[in-house]
Amino acid sequence: MSHFINVILPLPLEKHFTYAVSGAEADFLQPGMRVAVPFGKSKVYTGIISKIHGEAPQLYEAKPIEQILDEQPVVTQKQLKFWKWIASYYMCAEGEVLRAAIPSAFLLESETVVQLNKEAKPDEATLSDDEFLLFEALQSQSSLKIQEIVQLLDRKTVLSVINSLVEKKVVVVNQEIYEQYKPKMERYVQLHAVYSEEAKMHELLDNLDRAPKQREVVLTLFSLAAKTKKHVKVSELSKASKASATTIKSLIDKQVLEEFHLQTQRMQYEEKEISAAVELNEFQEKALDEVQQSFESENVCLLHGVTSSGKTEIYVKLIENVISEGKQVLFLLPEIALTAQLISRLQNYFGEQVAVYHSKYSVNERVEVYQNILANNKNARVVVGVRSSIFLPFQELGLIVVDEEHESTFKQYDPAPRYNARDLAVVLGNLHKCNVLLGSATPALESYFNADHHKYKLVNLNRRFGNVLLPKIEVVDIKEKYRKKRMKGHFSDRLEEEIRETLGNGEQVILFQNRRGFSPILECNTCGQSPQCPNCDVSLTFHSHNNQLRCHYCGYHMALQQKCMACGSPELSTKGFGTEQVETELKALFPEHKIGRMDLDTTRGKHGYEKIITAFEKREIDVLVGTQMLTKGLDFRNVRLVGIMNADTLLNFPDFRAHERSFQLMLQVAGRAGRTKEQGLVLVQTYNPHHRIVQQVSTNNYVEMYEEQLEERRQYKYPPFFRLIRITLKGRDFSRVNEGADWLAKGLKQVFGEHVLGPEFPPVARIRNEYYKNILVKIPQEQSVTRTKKVMEKIFTSFRAIGPYRSLRLVINVDPY
Ligand code: ADP
Ligand code: ZN
Ligand code: ZN
Repeated sequence: MSHFINVILPLPLEKHFTYAVSGAEADFLQPGMRVAVPFGKSKVYTGIISKIHGEAPQLYEAKPIEQILDEQPVVTQKQLKFWKWIASYYMCAEGEVLRAAIPSAFLLESETVVQLNKEAKPDEATLSDDEFLLFEALQSQSSLKIQEIVQLLDRKTVLSVINSLVEKKVVVVNQEIYEQYKPKMERYVQLHAVYSEEAKMHELLDNLDRAPKQREVVLTLFSLAAKTKKHVKVSELSKASKASATTIKSLIDKQVLEEFHLQTQRMQYEEKEISAAVELNEFQEKALDEVQQSFESENVCLLHGVTSSGKTEIYVKLIENVISEGKQVLFLLPEIALTAQLISRLQNYFGEQVAVYHSKYSVNERVEVYQNILANNKNARVVVGVRSSIFLPFQELGLIVVDEEHESTFKQYDPAPRYNARDLAVVLGNLHKCNVLLGSATPALESYFNADHHKYKLVNLNRRFGNVLLPKIEVVDIKEKYRKKRMKGHFSDRLEEEIRETLGNGEQVILFQNRRGFSPILECNTCGQSPQCPNCDVSLTFHSHNNQLRCHYCGYHMALQQKCMACGSPELSTKGFGTEQVETELKALFPEHKIGRMDLDTTRGKHGYEKIITAFEKREIDVLVGTQMLTKGLDFRNVRLVGIMNADTLLNFPDFRAHERSFQLMLQVAGRAGRTKEQGLVLVQTYNPHHRIVQQVSTNNYVEMYEEQLEERRQYKYPPFFRLIRITLKGRDFSRVNEGADWLAKGLKQVFGEHVLGPEFPPVARIRNEYYKNILVKIPQEQSVTRTKKVMEKIFTSFRAIGPYRSLRLVINVDPY
């Protein structure tokens, strides 16, 4: 009997591929193991085995595999099931899910590598200059890739050089597969064993009298080793003794110090005292009880708790129970960088059982976390991460917490799979038969709807911890203020006055300005033109700190122009305002105070956010100006006043969720005020003081907002009453995109009729010189989603078969908002 395996390849291809294996291999292999397999003419890919079987493929002859890469599966059965579900629900390939789901270091690369032929003794005189250069380079580096050789020789085509060297038997060329993951080695030093004798030690120190720097190193090493009772890293030693690398090296050369290497875990947990768990107050206690009870009958519970009600402490109690049974917990957050605070709180309770998973970590760090979770190691029982951690290889999941479950960052837009991690948490919870807790002060409409319709349980927590009152929210009518000339720049007299008072009392202020759709752009006073991005259909945004105009879509930038590029007029002014302008105006109003700014521009780098947040916590900043980053669950102790510079930009965003999102955003920023002692104050500046949402924010009336928005959704056929699937066509040829979109929309309308909207250009219809056009398909509740998708797939298949449309790309987004 012959043996075969099905393999998922990390490619956007529908099917699994079948390869032939021997009987012995078939016995050894298990689903979830990696194999290297040939694909196409000359490529080698890493794939994951999905099935081992005895059926030969009908349409092609199965090739044998190249190599088995694991002794044990690196992907669990549950993950394989989960991937399948995701691919089918989000209409993408399992290969795309695979690529998102495991660290890229697990996917070996196949590249041509050039190495020296060990036996070769070439006559150097017979080599050309380029050949000699390459030959020489290979003396010091064991192998070079084609791309590296291109750089080395500084010429485009190097194949002839390589070929010639191959013929002269100087080098060999082979396809080499290699692991990218390398355990991290750390350099350590210790005193040479002879000096453990005291007399020898004294002798040494005397000898080093004339080398004070070296003497200092020895003494420091001695005291570090005594103090920490651990091996001492070269880096620590050099820091503590202020010695240079050469000083330490000369001691190693003299054999005073011995050097050695140890493999370390990349993510070292800083040892901290584990704090005693807090005691819950009566309201938290009650909520905890209710959550626990709800889990007896239902897997999913929504905890609707006002800001600063102490939801985190409730999570902590639940987590405690789960890990005491040896099970794992997944704690999903909208954005890791912003939640350094929360991570350190969790570490306080659970010490080194907390593992953090984040895309800003290096590939190697991620591999370590992945493996620790796969092995259910103790150092990865509580896994904290952003949306992609939904894919980790949990063995025994006992609880999933989704904190700030309403956040839009749980949704992945690009590339596929375009999933929502909050929704997937519910699916994963089902797979593991474990509980899922969604927490928010401003739940997503869908989640509240599910709780309202008894799909989820609902638990309310209406009090802030410590009986602090929710902040008072005051609406400031800026139309009126402008009319009465009571505005300085974008600051109303009310806002200015309250900032002054707050700062006078030594308290802090947060100012919120959403930049989305409202960035400062340059406009000509004479002809009204503003500079456009050459690659995208948007105006360039003005950045005053470096006097640049930048495109926020493609990164194109140019120096600020002194004259209008259309008519030459020197009269240019900026229109719209972003955080930068708020900051500038604020500095003019309050020159004696420290102003900080938190937005995409100031928070680049791994620790960008943390620095700003820490400075604000330490009160090195008095007023913090920021975008929606400020809203995400931060817990500051000394903020009395929050100012929302302009509510209208949020409300007017062209999207059916704009009102829901505005409510959430405003209430979340408001929640940063007055978290500890006295009641805080929030000022909402707006041109529409009577807007329903503004009113609902000011009275903190979530339920009213929910009911009104739900009614609108019902009327206009949006979620949760209708499911949405958005199809985006992309292409470089404008008319082709139009034709293709018309063809597709027509095909879809023939089946789904009025529930197909478009085709329509999105607000930015060209990005990086590609045109975009959208079609929206709405699926009513009574219509089968599975069947709808099948029909759509068929239409897509016919579409792709049409020659002229081959150059167009189709992007399918299920639940796009
Ligand atoms: P939420 O996540 O609901 O906005 P937090 O969990 O951040 O609220 O709690 C708000 C503040 O109250 C935090 O500083 C937290 O340390 C404190 N807190 C909450 N519950 C307790 C408790 N039971 N004992 C002591 N402090 C608490
Ligand atoms: Zn002009
Ligand atoms: Zn651009």
